[in-house]
Amino acid sequence: VKFVYDFTEGNKDLKDLLGGKGANLAEMTNLGLPVPPGFTITTEACKTYLDSGEEPAALRDEVSAHLDALEKEMGKKLGQADNPLLVSVRSGAKFSMPGMMDTVLNIGLSDKSVQGLAKQSGDDRFAWDSYRRLIQMFGKTVLGVDGDLFEDALEAAKKSKKVTVDTELEAADLKKLVTKFKKIVKSEAGRDFPQDPREQMDLAIKAVFDSWNGDRAKLYRRQERIPHDLGTAVNICSMVFGNLGPDSGTGVAFTRDPASGHQGVYGDYLQNAQGEDVVAGIRNTVPLADLEKIDKKSYDQLMHIMETLENHYKDLCDIEFTIERGQLWMLQTRVGKRTAGAAFRIATQLVDQGLIDEAEALQRVTGAQLAQLMFPRFDEEAEAHQIGRGIAASPGAAVGKAVFDSYTAIKWSRSGEKVILIRRETNPDDLDGMIAAEGILTSRGGKTSHAAVVARGMGKTCVCGAEELEVDTKRRRLTVNGTVVEEGDVVSIDGSSGKVYLGEVPVVPSPVVEYFEGRMHAGADDADELVAAVHRIMAYADRVRRLRVRANADNAEDALRARRFGAQGIGLCRTEHMFLGDRRELVERLILADTETEREDSLKQLLPLQKRDFVELFEAMDGLPVTVRLLDPPLHEFLPDVTELSVRVALAESRKDPNENDLRLLQAVHRLHEQNPMLGLRGVRLGLVIPGLFTMQVRAIAEAAAERKNAKGDPRAEIMIPLVGTVQELEIVRDEAEQVIAEVEQATGVRLKLALGTMIELPRAALTAGQIAEAAEFFSFGTNDLTQTVWGFSRDDVEASFFTAYLEKGIFGVSPFETIDKDGVGSLVKSAADAGRATRPDLKLGVCGEHGGDPESVHFFHEVGLDYVSCSPFRIPVARLEAGRAAS
Ligand code: PEP
Ligand code: MG
Repeated sequence: VKFVYDFTEGNKDLKDLLGGKGANLAEMTNLGLPVPPGFTITTEACKTYLDSGEEPAALRDEVSAHLDALEKEMGKKLGQADNPLLVSVRSGAKFSMPGMMDTVLNIGLSDKSVQGLAKQSGDDRFAWDSYRRLIQMFGKTVLGVDGDLFEDALEAAKKSKKVTVDTELEAADLKKLVTKFKKIVKSEAGRDFPQDPREQMDLAIKAVFDSWNGDRAKLYRRQERIPHDLGTAVNICSMVFGNLGPDSGTGVAFTRDPASGHQGVYGDYLQNAQGEDVVAGIRNTVPLADLEKIDKKSYDQLMHIMETLENHYKDLCDIEFTIERGQLWMLQTRVGKRTAGAAFRIATQLVDQGLIDEAEALQRVTGAQLAQLMFPRFDEEAEAHQIGRGIAASPGAAVGKAVFDSYTAIKWSRSGEKVILIRRETNPDDLDGMIAAEGILTSRGGKTSHAAVVARGMGKTCVCGAEELEVDTKRRRLTVNGTVVEEGDVVSIDGSSGKVYLGEVPVVPSPVVEYFEGRMHAGADDADELVAAVHRIMAYADRVRRLRVRANADNAEDALRARRFGAQGIGLCRTEHMFLGDRRELVERLILADTETEREDSLKQLLPLQKRDFVELFEAMDGLPVTVRLLDPPLHEFLPDVTELSVRVALAESRKDPNENDLRLLQAVHRLHEQNPMLGLRGVRLGLVIPGLFTMQVRAIAEAAAERKNAKGDPRAEIMIPLVGTVQELEIVRDEAEQVIAEVEQATGVRLKLALGTMIELPRAALTAGQIAEAAEFFSFGTNDLTQTVWGFSRDDVEASFFTAYLEKGIFGVSPFETIDKDGVGSLVKSAADAGRATRPDLKLGVCGEHGGDPESVHFFHEVGLDYVSCSPFRIPVARLEAGRAAS
């Protein structure tokens, strides 16, 4: 195997091997763009190192060969005393992990070569500053020295010189600082700062490999669902300097606005600075457009390159560049992250420009982005006390209590508080706090600062660079124009406008939801441009998708909303939801019934109520299938809480005034008590044990359907039996149901075509699906219970108890209750679907567990050939989109 690739050898499709950065540096090199020469060490080398603890034997020689070639090309040697070649060593994984991994710049500087760099650049100060930076970065990331020690020494140097900014330190001061830094390294790391440039490089490479398994990187991967076994590539790139004076600088640029998608000049530029200064958000940048005035030649060249890149990648690209004394260099490009709204806009813009087709447009957006666009926003009409405004870095409306450090953010959010994390700027150490917060607010840094980039990646609301806010993290408060916000005060931040408010601002629905609701149509203002894009993308998805999308809905209101959102029927009506409220008493009486007459009496009273529910539901879904599930939960769920009831009974007894009914209730509660109700008397078992219960429900469904038919409606009811484990259960219930339906048909004179089917939500049902299909016209996979029973995880308990530990240990990247476990639960779904269809080729197959609205799971259900997914009304657009993406 080959472990090292020159930039001229790779291309953009080799991301697995060269990482995103390496693959794109190679692509740009091959496009003839000005990229400083260099080479990439593959992810394979990293994986070998991480697996065995040792670098692959061939790596050293390969690196030597590539370094030789690089030195020849550049006409100087790494660390050469009189004219040194310097390199950067940068991590670069397949997926971008902003700020999560290590980078070391200026490798090759030493006590000797710093003189050479001074001569070469004609700038003593620059040379010593570069050396100072190398020791600091190397000390911190490679040798593990506490970075604050360097920062403190730097502060002390400034103080003793009575200056405030680094640039006011002169060569002699920096030289002294280098001595001090070397002392820190020696005492903290127990070794000298290495003077051998090759040793510096080798140690830095190893440190980048190791950083793959750093805590920050691991946390980020879990959050972003990036596999842990990919490893990182390492890019060795000849250094160019943006800090060689006012004709130098560094910047970031986007080929389109990553927030709106509009074409134009977007980015930030920082004169006389190195790349890290921009990304870290330490100094304030100028808008990229200002570069035209600063350096017109480089600006024009950059604009031309941006056009080349966008036409080549056929997508929004983001770029890091450096200008060294008037010469433009490209340091990085990649298909850029963008806000959800921009993703939709850009996809349709690119279709209009003829750069991509509709199928490709569907791949440019995700269900998660659509879900984000369906979040509510602040009400513009409402009174709101604006206290400042920053940069709209990541959209959304977030309200929460002000906190000023990550620790408090985590602590408060664990106790159920919503918090806004407020920092001067964020760095990778703030990641946990950012995850815990509703939103992030910073007073420094631009659209490409750490806070902005990471928040956008997480889909979290973020306002950054709100400069008039004075954030005092030590005293836990912020001050702005005389207003003081203390820790715990409520603030509201708008990631779409950048506005910051004191107090809670009411929120209103998103324009995308208004569109799905049919209350908004395409038009000209900003929201409508987004709506038009969503409209078009949804149309593409609907055109190509094979999966149908139904709703989980139990009442007419939800059914109507689901229909507006594009539902093609109801896949799950949970009838237990119809037994709550006033009707609980009737159910109570049913449970307490001592005699057959009493029981029949309460069933008789429930019948018309149930029937009315179904009439309404069938009317709302007229012409579309409605799957009604017979009662599923254990009966005790309809009885009062045992503790409360016991207290009531005890109190009554002490007053010598016992309540007959309460006493009977208490007995019933004890009688029905189960250690493990989820595995107890529920689902089809209820139907088999409580005489008349299921038949009452079937009668209500049949009579409702007959009534709708008589009213010239088109009811398409399907009756579904829950928690079946064996075909025998189903056969008994089925026979009874058919008899009832026949009776209703006879009585009403209406011919009813009611489909009878079952849920597949127990392992045994899945394993015997071939037999069960004999008695079922359809299967609906209940992946909630199936996940619960296949894993043996209590669905009500585990997420709050030990799942965090499981996620942390990487046992799974996401809860199997959220995304279908393909290997386990999913494989049962697949084999049951196949077996069911083998018995009954026209068997209809759907899924109605929570997974029906989960993007990744929808793709899986498409692949195994189900007919439909069913999910809650608000997730229907997401399911439609993902079904379209899966099919295109
Ligand atoms: C299921 O188990 O997946 C299901 C849809 O039923 P419920 O969630 O009501 O148990
Ligand atoms: Mg279930």
